[in-house]
Amino acid sequence: FNVPKPVNEPVKSYAPGSPERIELQQTLKEFRSQLVDVPMYIGSDEVRTGIKKSMSPPHDHKHLLGFFHEGDASHVEQAINAALGAKEAWESMEWEQRAAIFLKAADLLAGPYRAKINAATMLGQSKNAFQAEIDAACEFIDFLRFNVQYMSEIYAQQPPVSGAGVWNRLEQRPLEGFVFALTPFNFTAIAGNLPTAPAMMGNTVVWKPAYTQIYSANVLMQVFKEAGVPDGVINLVFVDGPTAGKIIFNHPDFAGIHFTGSTGVFQNIWKTIGENIFKYKSYPRIVGETGGKDFVLAHKSAHAKAVAVGLSRGAFEYQGQKCSAASRAYIPSNIWPDVKKYLLEDLASMSMGPTEDFTNFINAVIDEKSFDKISKYIDNAKNAEGVEIIAGGHHDKSKGYFIQPTVILTKDPMYTTMCEEIFGPVLTIYVYHEEHFEEALELVDQTSPYALTGAVFSQDRYAIELATKKLRNAAGNFYINDKPTGAVVGQQPFGGARASGTNDKAGSMINLLRWVSPRTIKETF
Ligand code: GLU
Repeated sequence: FNVPKPVNEPVKSYAPGSPERIELQQTLKEFRSQLVDVPMYIGSDEVRTGIKKSMSPPHDHKHLLGFFHEGDASHVEQAINAALGAKEAWESMEWEQRAAIFLKAADLLAGPYRAKINAATMLGQSKNAFQAEIDAACEFIDFLRFNVQYMSEIYAQQPPVSGAGVWNRLEQRPLEGFVFALTPFNFTAIAGNLPTAPAMMGNTVVWKPAYTQIYSANVLMQVFKEAGVPDGVINLVFVDGPTAGKIIFNHPDFAGIHFTGSTGVFQNIWKTIGENIFKYKSYPRIVGETGGKDFVLAHKSAHAKAVAVGLSRGAFEYQGQKCSAASRAYIPSNIWPDVKKYLLEDLASMSMGPTEDFTNFINAVIDEKSFDKISKYIDNAKNAEGVEIIAGGHHDKSKGYFIQPTVILTKDPMYTTMCEEIFGPVLTIYVYHEEHFEEALELVDQTSPYALTGAVFSQDRYAIELATKKLRNAAGNFYINDKPTGAVVGQQPFGGARASGTNDKAGSMINLLRWVSPRTIKETF
């Protein structure tokens, strides 16, 4: 079995009249006119509890896409039992067979399911066609194909030395117990990767998605089933966090968590696991990607236009709801007038509206809670001293959760929106004296507890070297003359440290190694 050498899935253009656009538009239409009824998937059962929760497009919240069935503690227990029951057969399968299943899932997503997963992400999570394509299709396909490559390398690793009459070997065992995947709304690819990466390495999984991603999670589950993932290997449950946590973290067979979400939730999980540590067979693997307060720092030598584009794309793609989104910027006074001019021009060209209209760059934020939280930051800035809103500022939730891309200019580099994670279309800019680059470096490093992504723009090699050195711990993904979003699997392994997570780089061998527990065997003849 030769693992095909992975290449990144080409991003389709969805140009007007292209076959992929026609197919996607038809699928969107179909999906909008149907009501789906999404069950939980536990073992071989589709579980419908009758406790129906509705699903709507964030950009059109009065339209109904369907329902999902909410479960309770008993369903979490059933899912754990299904995972434990499926474990032996799954882990004793040859790894090549597991690889073949996930490669098939990738092919299904690249082909017959591409329009479906993109349409579901566009409607359920309010991503435009391009943002859906680079996430739900390409990034998830890449996660699957590259992880299979890394998995093959992991299984090939053996101790380099065996003395005379000795055979040393390493056996990559899956973890003893079940893995819990707790997944976010903002990337369908991450929601898919968190259960599949541990499953690939022979683990069985209980998967709890964000309620706002269930519409596309349902399509992923159909792909996994069609690809041949056996019943019980990935169990999808819809329960609230505290209910799930109570059962999962008290269970003696809890073996690990694969998480993407907020820092606060992750810290609480860590604490709960610590409090329960005597109950477990092994020390659980705790792998999490959490918040960000990602920076763009320009040097006086930077090209103003490149900085402006980095800001507008980095801050406002997918309404700023990426952990990697640029949300605080430090711009030198000499290039600020030009950066401002280009940035405002670019923002003026971005139209806002529903995802079904492909000309809209900006769509809605995910739900009312997010809308209210983000709007409050904007409204507070309207009345704050030393702060000016230079673009956007308007928000309206009457039809969908729409917030205009908003740029705040602050005289105080420690103003709230320079420090706190907002997770929405809000960028705050601080203009520093062009000769004070070193002080700006200090500010970038010290302002936020997070360290996920960051970008430096400069044409001066010395400044690039200095920033790379001084900001060594300020970002796990560091960009030079590019926006801080859009990491590509196989090219820029993704993740950060400090309050941003455990930095086990999604879509990398580092991550997959967390889902095995090797046994060393020495045999003497
Ligand atoms: N990997 C994504 C990027 O580079 C961000 C993932 C996230 O938001 O969690 O933009």
